[in-house]
Amino acid sequence: MSLNGKNALVTGGSRGIGRAICLRLAAMGAHVFINYVSNSQAAEETQQEIVAAGGSADTIAFDVADAAQAEGTIKQLIKDAGSIDILVNNAGITRDGLMVRMKEADWDAVLDTNLKGAFICTKAASRAMMKKRWGRIVNISSVIGFAGNAGQVNYASAKAGMQGLTKSTAREFSARNITVNGVAPGYIVTDMTKTLPEEVQEKIKAEIPLACLGSPEDVAGAVAYLVGDDSSYITGQTIHVNGGMYM
Ligand code: NDP
Repeated sequence: MSLNGKNALVTGGSRGIGRAICLRLAAMGAHVFINYVSNSQAAEETQQEIVAAGGSADTIAFDVADAAQAEGTIKQLIKDAGSIDILVNNAGITRDGLMVRMKEADWDAVLDTNLKGAFICTKAASRAMMKKRWGRIVNISSVIGFAGNAGQVNYASAKAGMQGLTKSTAREFSARNITVNGVAPGYIVTDMTKTLPEEVQEKIKAEIPLACLGSPEDVAGAVAYLVGDDSSYITGQTIHVNGGMYM
């Protein structure tokens, strides 16, 4: 499954799941563009780790929710690098709260980053894929988008929306040999989940048949499969990486 000669853009690639995806795609031979919004140090550390392992990568800052900024940066990236062959829409945030108390700003922030961001980046990056008649897009959704969760109505709605985005773009882009698939992680150990109190983590583990939280590498493995040659006849699907907690 060589990705030699391919350029990959991973949104939110600086930390957590995105970082593991960047490392994995670089190990497969892709040149990786590590996107982040504010933490340049984490992005540089990821880049250094890739280079130390013999891979190649650049960091690239933009806010996926800012259409003008994201589109402009991706357009320039395509001009400079020649193409984006692989896009992983991974950037995501949480602003949790119960429905009745949720502020409109928290709804908007999560929908803008987690769903609209994927729409903006897909639209901008897919032009180059269409020209080349080859592309791989992977949308990182969540088990919460399938099962729902009290206190996460904004996050669940954004992640459920990603299913519609994945399936519709898969249909639109299939004639150009571009596949669009999703990966829906369960609970994965990253900065996003580290803050969960110990008792909450224990409760979650009790609901997972494999009885442990997942690692970012577990998710990166599914992404690697979906961008590699072995999955070329798969589009519009979602792989669940959740230890069996949702079937
Ligand atoms: P982290 O909080 O560890 O990392 C988030 C990443 O997204 C960072 O690189 C961050 O950049 C970037 N980011 C945030 N907002 C923006 C933005 N507006 N524009 C560009 N980049 C942005 O998250 P995880 O690794 O845990 O999660 C990654 C994805 O996986 C998310 O979509 C999340 O919803 C999903 N997921 C995670 C699960 C988990 O258990 N961890 C479970 C299911 C799904 P910076 O460093 O600059 O802040």
